[in-house]
Formats: sequence, C-alpha cells, structure tokens
Amino acid sequence: MRALIMEQNSDGLAEPHIKEISEDALPEGDVLVRVEYSTLNYKDGLCLSPKGGGLVRNYPHVPGIDFAGTVETSECPDFKPGDKVVLTGWRVGEVHWGGYAEKARVKSDWLVPLPDGVTTRQAMAVGTAGFTAMLAVMALEEHGLKPDQGPVLVTGATGGVGSVATAILAHLGYEVAAVTGRPEGADYLKSMGATQIVPREDINETIKRPLESETWAGCIDAVGGEMLARVLGQMKYNASVAAIGLAGGAAVPATIIPFILRGVNLLGIDSVTQPKERRIRCWNRIATDLPMDKLEAMIQPATLEDLPELGASILKGGVKGRVLVDLS
Ligand code: NDP
Repeated sequence: MRALIMEQNSDGLAEPHIKEISEDALPEGDVLVRVEYSTLNYKDGLCLSPKGGGLVRNYPHVPGIDFAGTVETSECPDFKPGDKVVLTGWRVGEVHWGGYAEKARVKSDWLVPLPDGVTTRQAMAVGTAGFTAMLAVMALEEHGLKPDQGPVLVTGATGGVGSVATAILAHLGYEVAAVTGRPEGADYLKSMGATQIVPREDINETIKRPLESETWAGCIDAVGGEMLARVLGQMKYNASVAAIGLAGGAAVPATIIPFILRGVNLLGIDSVTQPKERRIRCWNRIATDLPMDKLEAMIQPATLEDLPELGASILKGGVKGRVLVDLS
C-alpha cells in the first residue's frame, strides 16, 4: 500500500516520503479501512512541517487528520466489510497514523457511518474544516440564531472552514457577510452565497472602542487574534460568536465590555473529541444543509505527491476552498 510517511533526517527534522509500506506496519485498531479520499486542513499543514507543528509525537508518521473510505475488515459488530465510513478528530493523523495512505487501521469508536446520499468523495471535500463549520452553525442555532435577525459574519471566508460555513448559512437563508484578505476571492464567495464582502483590513485593526455599532447577528470565526477582539464589539445584543480557529493568531486582545454590556456569547467549537451522537447528527445536517453543487466548486483536487507543497501553502493562508486527496 502507498503512503505519505514523515521520517526524521539526521538533524531530527521530519521529511515527507511517498513509499510502499506493509499493511503490518499500521497501528493497532479493530477496523481496517480502505481509504478512498483524504484532505488537507490547517492542522495537516502543521503535521507535514519539519517539526510536526508540535502535534506529532513519534516518527515515522503518516499524517492526514481525516479520511473517508470503505471498511475492509472489522472486529466490531457495528461495522462490516463494505460499509462507507468517515473519520475526523481523535488526534488521528497527529498521534495516531492518519489518512495519507491507501489503508488505515483505527478504533471503531472513532468512525462514523456515512449518511445516505453522501459519497466518500463529498465527505472529504467537507473534511474536518467543513464538519467544524457545521458544528459552529449548530452551536449558533442552539444559542438562538435565526435567519431574520440580520447578517452573520464569516471570517477567513475563502479558507476551508469559511467556505463551507458560508455555503451552509446561505442555504439556510442567512444573509452572509464574508471577511477576506483576498479581493480576488469576492466572486468565489458570492458564488458560495455571500451577500456582502468585508475586506480583511476593515476589521483587522486593533480595537479602538470596546463597543461599536451593533452589526452582526452571529459570527463564525476561523481567524481569532485581533479580528476576533474587534468582532466581539460589533455583535448585536445577545448575539454569539462561534470561535473555531486561529489563522490570524492565538492571543485575543479583547475587553470584557461586549460580554457584560451586550450579553455577547463566545462559543468554543472543538471538533476533535465530539461525542459520537453529535458527530452523527452533524454529518446528517451536512447531508441536508450543504448544497453539493457549491461543495463541488470548492474542490481543489490533489495527490499524495502534491501534499508537502500544499501543506506549506495552507500555513501561509494560500489555499482556497477544500483540497481533496484522491487515494481511490
Ligand atoms: P484555511 O487556511 O483553509 O483558512 C484560513 C483562512 O483564514 C485563510 O484562507 C484566510 O482567508 C484567513 N487568514 C489566514 N491568515 C490570516 C491572517 N493572518 N489574518 C486574517 N485572516 C487570515 O484553514 P481552515 O479553514 O482549514 O482552518 C481555519 C482555522 O480553523 C485554523 O486555525 C484551524 O486550525 C482551525 N480549525 C479548528 C478546528 C476545531 O476543531 N476548532 C477544526 C478545523 C480547523 P481569507 O484569505 O479569505 O482572508
């Protein structure tokens, strides 16, 4: 079986090699999956980097934090050969070997059966980024967001999380304001359903006043940093921000004022250790609420050979939409 495997050189830095490896080399697990598709997320960029981004513990290592495929063998009664499955999270591709190989052996608890109507290819066009975007939409809804409340802001909009969030929100009837640093991405974002394009520089400045005009009914934030701090002061009364990512930085130089004077909620979104029941619900929502024609327009096809370069690019904010790695 072919795999992209990270191996340490004599300086201790990890380098990617595409190799034939034996199935016996795969880690322990009760289900063997024939991987059909994987993808590239920001975290994959870190795992493909020479120091593993602080996420990879041991080498040699097969990255790929998510994959979709067909069960080949199973010691778990919940899965049988031929079942279509998807895996995201559980530190697969970081601590456990991941999806950048033709087969993966994993714990059955980590696998989710694919909902009817979603192919393995579509599941990985969605990937961890899109799965997390759906979790964010669910969290905003659970905190009372409805389409008639006003525009919802999506930051890092041309990225993986942002593209899927934009498409889902627009499909659900929300007015979507998309923040991007790429003016050339405006047409793409409008095709995803954005009604307003917000230039990154308009919203990326250090906060001058803790409260600005009440503008956004909700926000899905993939950027963090100063942008998140600024956005908190622009939220409507009682509105929520779903914080997903840190593409713009981990430190948030915010004040407490939006929380205590406007009742703004900051909702943390973690995709890695979600309970299985919520994962299944999330994939079912993806099946109904993400228009598959829009998903198709997000796809950038790739092979294992392309991943080292694409991994470096995603860390610099250079990847648009969703990279789809074909292993079928
Ligand atoms: P992408 O690289 O695809 O998208 C990130 C986008 O953020 C870029 O496309 C760019 O969009 C924007 N951006 C990049 N750098 C900056 C910057 N310095 N300042 C402002 N905006 C910037 O990554 P993903 O969408 O896959 O992931 C986004 C974030 O979400 C990452 O931090 C990732 O680790 C995190 N994440 C978290 C998960 C969780 O479980 N909480 C799960 C999945 C992802 P544009 O050019 O349009 O401005």
